[in-house]
Amino acid sequence: MIEMSNVYKKYSNGITAINGLDVRIEQGEFVYVVGPSGAGKSTFIKMIYREELPTKGTVKVGEFELENLKPKKIPYLRRHVGVVFQDFKLLPRLTVYENVAYAMQVLEKNPKQIQKRVLEVLDLVGLKHKVRMFPNELSGGEQQRIAIARAIANMPRVLIADEPTGNLDPETAWGIMELLEQINNQGTTIIMATHNSEIVNRVRHRVLAVENGRIARDQEGGEYGYEI
Ligand code: ADP
Ligand code: ADP
Repeated sequence: MIEMSNVYKKYSNGITAINGLDVRIEQGEFVYVVGPSGAGKSTFIKMIYREELPTKGTVKVGEFELENLKPKKIPYLRRHVGVVFQDFKLLPRLTVYENVAYAMQVLEKNPKQIQKRVLEVLDLVGLKHKVRMFPNELSGGEQQRIAIARAIANMPRVLIADEPTGNLDPETAWGIMELLEQINNQGTTIIMATHNSEIVNRVRHRVLAVENGRIARDQEGGEYGYEI
């Protein structure tokens, strides 16, 4: 499903963030990406949804070869890869409904289809009753649920979450984790970068530990801990 071979990423300031990385992730897996700050986790993740391109090497996501993907085709990739961020990134001037619908309108779906799906995903995240609210009227946990609803609205095969619980209190974080588990159980591949050791150690999944731009450990049902 996702395959990186001999990937390097050097930024324009000369920093090498990814330094010869190989990995393969199958459809339906739940993978944690852990590692110290600056290890290259975000860069790794950004290359999966083509926010960054590798300097060298190949990145395949489904049938897409990202290094050859024309900018015009990026929306087609993003239909298959949903993304959730630590700071939610909801559009502040749009309602909950509009935030989720917007992600679908970009792909030119018909209005009836959009309405049905928006209400369906808001129901799934437990916030159908908040459709008319604006992001700043919601708690952090609720905002993250909306961001997740938006990310899965187009039924992506992969959901990428970069520190999704980083701004949330522990109890709220567990709720988000349950939601991600539920989405994974429906067959969506989940790739989650996190510093939340409690979650990683309690809800066991494959762990990719990134250090110095490489996979330092790749462990099925692994623990959070890393060497440096
Ligand atoms: P580019 O990397 O193509 O120059 P960006 O807008 O990503 O464009 O970044 C502009 C500059 O800001 C980078 O060249 C880099 O020097 C710096 N920069 C941005 N993000 C980071 C970061 N996370 N760590 C270190 N430097 C950064
Ligand atoms: P992590 O997510 O593990 O903290 P990152 O992928 O954000 O790691 O960063 C890896 C290295 O690349 C760091 O040294 C960081 O400063 C640098 N970096 C990240 N983004 C940029 C950027 N846009 N421009 C320049 N350097 C960057």
